[in-house]
Amino acid sequence: SAAEFDVVVIGAGAAGLFCAGVAGQRGLKVLVVDHSEKVGEKIRISGGGRANFTNRDLDVRAPQRHFISDNPNFCRSALSRYAPQQFIELVQKHGIAFHEKHKGQLFCDGSSQQIVDMLLAECEAGGVERWQPCRIGEIAFSAGNADGTGAGSYRIESNRGPVETPKIVVATGGLSIPQIGASDFGYRIAEQFGLRMVTPRPALVPLTFGGDAWAPYAELAGLALPVRIETGAKKEKTAFLEDLLFTHRGLSGPAVLQISSYWKPGAPLTIDFAPGVNVAEALGEAKLRSKKRIANELAALVPSRLADAWVGQDPALQRPVNEAADKALAALSERIARWQIVPSGTEGYKKAEVTAGGVDTRDLSSQTMESKQPGLYFIGEVVDVTGWLGGYNFQWAWASAHACAQAL
Ligand code: FAD
Repeated sequence: SAAEFDVVVIGAGAAGLFCAGVAGQRGLKVLVVDHSEKVGEKIRISGGGRANFTNRDLDVRAPQRHFISDNPNFCRSALSRYAPQQFIELVQKHGIAFHEKHKGQLFCDGSSQQIVDMLLAECEAGGVERWQPCRIGEIAFSAGNADGTGAGSYRIESNRGPVETPKIVVATGGLSIPQIGASDFGYRIAEQFGLRMVTPRPALVPLTFGGDAWAPYAELAGLALPVRIETGAKKEKTAFLEDLLFTHRGLSGPAVLQISSYWKPGAPLTIDFAPGVNVAEALGEAKLRSKKRIANELAALVPSRLADAWVGQDPALQRPVNEAADKALAALSERIARWQIVPSGTEGYKKAEVTAGGVDTRDLSSQTMESKQPGLYFIGEVVDVTGWLGGYNFQWAWASAHACAQAL
């Protein structure tokens, strides 16, 4: 006969474990299943092994500013009802030391494993049962009575036997990093029950620039510098002021990861390598007072490797700045302050920190995360809500899990 639970949570990651613990502590009989052998593996590798577990700058009155979704306001309810401060208090209750690194980003002083252990302890406190590794097969739904009375129920086939439950929480995450257990399971369940999808795409991901086009810049691999990076047509322009990193294949670093979530294939990026500096004016003044080479003058404004590479592209710039043509200096200034380049693609799910798109929020309740299909809930990254770099994706996992657990 089938094992019976009040709730079955599929996916023992950030959202699933947190939801299970809160629901268990509310008195529900909860089962969590995951096909991976290891628990919370993505939390463990996150934030360079220290888990950037939330962001203090998230404004609970307008949280949607830091999130991307086809339905930008969907995330407000959950994020405003479960604030970063609430998760910080939980972390403190468990005696985990942490620090702020950059722009509100909170990291463990020690190891991200502490966050995994904390979530497991919360599950334990709620009497949550966990089956791992556990393969899920068919999921079948039988509706309640035709007259509208009686709740429906789900029967889940698994390699540990069948399970019966009135409620399923899908917390299987996105497609990023397939080598540690990512799967399209959540999307398939959504499809099975007739829910709409926003096409998934890699996000927070390095951008590539295809073979030959990148050759002149490949020599800059390893160079990092602060930039202002922008994409999007007039009305939907998005910009970030962050560090950019040149790689052998293209561009990475926080600036590029952030903009990648907004970038649309075929669209250009505009990069200012000297944000806050008027390059045209600075080179114009240099021309009046200096006999140094242009590359040397430019190196006062941007890293010298970049200055050399940019000046090296134009023979008219291989000379002392006082002998340079105004036109050549203007063109150089433009390429420093407004460098336009069209990425050929992204590094894909193997390198993407998250998956944008997912289960269409129009088919979910922003209050409870329940879908149009009664008793079927979706939380965390599987939903079409994607946070900025900097702890926002974990905060969405915690907040959506909490909203759901309160409603189960
Ligand atoms: P996950 O944590 O991915 O959990 C999903 C779980 O579902 C996994 O355990 C998986 O094994 C399981 N699963 C999948 N398919 C099945 C199936 N078919 N059957 C059973 N189980 C299944 N975000 C931040 O906020 N801060 C960071 O510092 C940060 N660093 C990151 C670093 C890296 C390298 C990566 C890849 C991501 C990082 N992220 C970070 C993003 C963050 O890890 C995710 O957004 C977050 O883990 C999503 O939580 P989730 O519970 O929805 O999914």
